[in-house]
Amino acid sequence: MLHRIGRDKVVYDMSPEHKPVLEVSPGDTVIVETEDCFCHKIVSESQTVGGDFDFTHVNPATGPIAVKGATPGDTIVVSIESIELDDQGVVETCPAWGPVKNVSKSCVSEIVKIQGNYASFMGEQIEIKPMIGVIGNSPADKSIPCTTPGRHGGNLDTRDIVAGSRVFLPVFVKGGNLSLGDVHARMGDGEVGGSGIEVRANVKLTVDIDKMPVDSPTVENEEAFYLLFSAKTLEEASHGAVKRAIEFISDWKSIPREKAYMLTSICCDLMISQVVNPLVTVRVRVPKVIL
Ligand code: CA
Ligand code: ZN
Repeated sequence: MLHRIGRDKVVYDMSPEHKPVLEVSPGDTVIVETEDCFCHKIVSESQTVGGDFDFTHVNPATGPIAVKGATPGDTIVVSIESIELDDQGVVETCPAWGPVKNVSKSCVSEIVKIQGNYASFMGEQIEIKPMIGVIGNSPADKSIPCTTPGRHGGNLDTRDIVAGSRVFLPVFVKGGNLSLGDVHARMGDGEVGGSGIEVRANVKLTVDIDKMPVDSPTVENEEAFYLLFSAKTLEEASHGAVKRAIEFISDWKSIPREKAYMLTSICCDLMISQVVNPLVTVRVRVPKVIL
């Protein structure tokens, strides 16, 4: 069955308090209209997130969507069919954003027109690579703002969450209560300046339930699995993601942990997803040829 949710149905945190706006059956398809991370308040270059911009309402996520039959301990599998973008996005940076401070004197906006497969940045034609920044389920017993990533998903800002990929998210409450938003027309690993090309989108996805539990968000495409981990520092996040890779490979191939660590060391890539959110996110890419 095909459903649709409008971009007026948003939440600013992922929370067990929110009632689902839609209930679907496993295998159903949903077109989710997503709002951009600044709630479409920056549509010209004279508008920025400086001054009295309301940072309590950013990164809206459309939902939540309950999946019938999903119970805590299960995994919700989101197959992303397509991501259709609006024809205009925005790139933003501010003096306090990212690893290099005070590159700009104040917050600045760049409006980017999007046409076909290209975005026009200062007249330069840049190929788009549409991806979803925020996607997650409700946590068990607390609310987590959509700006923050974690085991539930959230603001993962991971470049591999694209059309054609599958996202595995742990279920903590009945129905899972999935929500998503913050689509980027393009973003580099790290999202170092604090934003991608932030844009409204229509995301077409199919949801399913997997009874195999997953610790933290995992992404799969034709060539690889990506094991994500978010933490306060890059060290902690790297530890978490590599540990996941060791366990994943060891369990999949029924080989000892130390052999799996060796395989991780020689065949898998530790990659930075983002360094600009309240927790940073890294991922390990496990190529399927070694499994
Ligand atoms: Ca984001
Ligand atoms: Zn974003």
